[in-house]
Amino acid sequence: MADMCIFCKIANGEIPSNCLYEDELVKVILDLSPASKGHALIIPKRHAKDLFELDEETKAYVLQVASKVGAALKKTLNADGINIMQNNGEAAGQTVMHFHMHIIPRYKGDGLQLFPSGESTPEELKEIRDKVVAELN
Ligand code: AMP
Ligand code: ZN
Repeated sequence: MADMCIFCKIANGEIPSNCLYEDELVKVILDLSPASKGHALIIPKRHAKDLFELDEETKAYVLQVASKVGAALKKTLNADGINIMQNNGEAAGQTVMHFHMHIIPRYKGDGLQLFPSGESTPEELKEIRDKVVAELN
């Protein structure tokens, strides 16, 4: 599976990319179809399908890299903000089944709608809360 994976191939250099940063654990590249100017992806070198398969070391490290690269993008591109996004599963919009984290620079008035507001009821919120709290405890 991992030898067919496009992000494994990008991570090991088999497929070329616009690399912003690389070390022994991750490669950071520019997204080919950017949601905004400077949209970047953090790709761990070790294959894991999603957040739930990712090892603890990489999980923690990816956020450190997001902070460092996010700050550099903000400064160099004069971005007004940064969204950090990460999709798990097809239903969540994941199209490449190798964990990656999106770093999306935002510009005032860019109109991107990444998190549209929805609706709920107090009863529904309570039901969800009770189920998840029971699972976590
Ligand atoms: P997701 O929908 O969260 O799985 O994100 C996959 C992202 O990978 C999308 O934003 C694509 O534009 C991007 N992508 C796919 N193939 C490549 C590639 N070869 N180089 C750079 N970005 C890519
Ligand atoms: Zn992979």
